[in-house]
Amino acid sequence: MMKRKSLEEYKEGVLSGNRVLLSQAITLVESTLESDIHLAGKLVQDLLPFSGKSIRIGITGVPGVGKSTFIEAFGKILLEEGKKVAVLAVDPSSQQSKGSILGDKTRMEKLSADKRAFIRPSPSGFTLGGVSAKTREAMLLCEAAGFDVIMVETVGVGQSETAVKGMVDFFLLLMLAGAGDELQGIKKGIMEMADGILVHKADGDNLKAAKIARANYRNALHLFPLGENNWSPPVMTGSSLTGEGLKDCWMKIQDYQEKMQGSGYFEKNRAGQRLKWLDEYVQYLLGKAFHEQVKVQNLLANEKEHVKDGTLNPMTFARKLVNVFFENFKPKNS
Ligand code: GDP
Repeated sequence: MMKRKSLEEYKEGVLSGNRVLLSQAITLVESTLESDIHLAGKLVQDLLPFSGKSIRIGITGVPGVGKSTFIEAFGKILLEEGKKVAVLAVDPSSQQSKGSILGDKTRMEKLSADKRAFIRPSPSGFTLGGVSAKTREAMLLCEAAGFDVIMVETVGVGQSETAVKGMVDFFLLLMLAGAGDELQGIKKGIMEMADGILVHKADGDNLKAAKIARANYRNALHLFPLGENNWSPPVMTGSSLTGEGLKDCWMKIQDYQEKMQGSGYFEKNRAGQRLKWLDEYVQYLLGKAFHEQVKVQNLLANEKEHVKDGTLNPMTFARKLVNVFFENFKPKNS
């Protein structure tokens, strides 16, 4: 186990933008040890007033669409503009075949070599909606450390998008120009979540197809009703090899931020996200306590077969289990 520092040391380290201490603070936040959870909770709470000043961008797309390459090229543009950039990668997958994200990190070499950038692979531990619940706290710490753009990368294979969408301000979907298979495994629901779509790898022989795909996606998006924020998501083309279109994408994101801050939606969205986060974490804690209780475990073990063979009504039994849980519940002091 790593030796822990004091609350003050973490606080000062993070606030001074020290990347090593920021990294250690995130490790602390990821820990599942009771003593760490206590310290981490204090740290995040104390740093809250210093958080929130970044623009949080979620980036998704199927494996191979070029997310890592995009983040590296896009990050470079942001650094040139004098921004400090943090990248948090979310890997929903032990089920994914190869640990693609960790492999990708080695390709973000240029970005990670820059002192104004910070790259952190997927936090370990329990997940909410397929995304480490600690990613959100890691994001807050990065903000307190002075990073003005936070990119949260997720593999576009389903459940993790919803969780990432729930913690960012702008959700960018990278797509490819595919021959006919315009939806390429990206579900309609994910397109609906996007605040912007970028048809990636729009270079060389692929440029023409990319422009056609852009027109097709624009048409597809027209079929979706505008959301509460009245934002009509731009469909762009871009290449991380040539850099074409990336500045334009950044301008669109800034335009979004300006408009949403002006209308009040920006803060409203964040407020809603915080409440939802609270709700999900409460559910998680309750579920965890429930499944850890020995009385519950025993009763479940005894009666499970009857639920399976259809002789015990699942809903009746669920109520009984919950009653047993509450009758035997002993609160932890924390
Ligand atoms: P990820 O799995 O979404 O993170 O995708 P990667 O960033 O690993 O990229 C997958 C492959 O696409 C790599 O071989 C990249 O070199 C290539 N690639 C990424 N961006 C571009 C681009 O803008 N244009 C072209 N032609 N290839 C790209």
